[in-house]
Amino acid sequence: MAKIKKKIKTIKVDADKCNGCRTCEVVCSAFHSSPKWSVINPARSRIQIIRHPLKNIWLPVFAGEYAPAECMGRDKYIIDGKEYDECAFCRASCPSRDLFKEPDSGLPLKCDMCEDDPPREKPLCVEWCLNDVLIYEEREEEVEEGVEMEDVEAGLTSMVDKYGLEKVAETITRMSQKE
Ligand code: SF4
Ligand code: SF4
Repeated sequence: MAKIKKKIKTIKVDADKCNGCRTCEVVCSAFHSSPKWSVINPARSRIQIIRHPLKNIWLPVFAGEYAPAECMGRDKYIIDGKEYDECAFCRASCPSRDLFKEPDSGLPLKCDMCEDDPPREKPLCVEWCLNDVLIYEEREEEVEEGVEMEDVEAGLTSMVDKYGLEKVAETITRMSQKE
């Protein structure tokens, strides 16, 4: 398979600096509302702050890949005396919790690094986090052509899991006839 150059975007999280203000959730959900900036609903944000105010835990977690099944094992982490529960570090939208799911449809949410036209200099959560918790970085890597289709496949898989193959196929056929 042919190789192509791809820009890899990452956001590092300096969790100790987070004070749980949740500005990142607000701006992400407003940007991804339809039309853009029309609604603020942090439940639709692709970044979520895992909170435990009594233990002074504020952990920003970005929505990652969709997982069709729950994992078999759960972990606990103790870092600097703070205990992080089971799913705290997990980025997946999965059947065991409501996190990273579109509240109305239940479809999985995934961070898209604020894709925009024209492209933004840096993602909005990074821009608006005034405590420098989120650090944006870019690098170039060679990847195999076709890897980009993985995202499309993940989205379709989640719809098939939710609505069934027949219904999804019918909808795609109907949409293609309209074009
Ligand atoms: S905007 Fe920054 S400080 Fe506020 S909750 Fe998000 S990551 Fe934490
Ligand atoms: S990078 Fe953009 S899409 Fe991803 S969590 Fe931050 S604001 Fe949301």
